[in-house]
Amino acid sequence: MSRPVNVSANSQLDTSTACPCGTGLAYAACCGRWHEGAQHLQALTAEALMRSRYTAFVQDKLDYLLQTWHPDTRPLALERNPPGCKWLGLHVVAHAQQDADHATVEFIARRRDAGRATRLHETSRFVRLDGRWLYLDGEFPA
Ligand SMILES: [Zn+2]
Repeated sequence: MSRPVNVSANSQLDTSTACPCGTGLAYAACCGRWHEGAQHLQALTAEALMRSRYTAFVQDKLDYLLQTWHPDTRPLALERNPPGCKWLGLHVVAHAQQDADHATVEFIARRRDAGRATRLHETSRFVRLDGRWLYLDGEFPA
């Protein structure tokens, strides 16, 4: 018996595909847990939330990005990835927790836009509100 082949052109990942955030885990066992299902929006650490947000950017999961953005800094809307944009990978440089509800994650994300490689180096601040980690804002180290 042959397995069905997914020929869908959208960006949804097969749940057994390696997670785009680079942990080496399958998507369903990694960021997929926080994107939907019983543990929706319940990333256990700021780093897990940051990874799940990177993967959400890769997958154009704009609702998830808005839902995990602190209400004080959340934009009204987000735009989907432009055609020809390809996310290339995530490297988490450091994860530091200041107290139970405040943490920072420094990371480098790489993507290619219309053939041009770009690199985002950011130290993001995260706050835990009502038990859920949220993205607050970011600084851009030199
Ligand atoms: Zn992941």
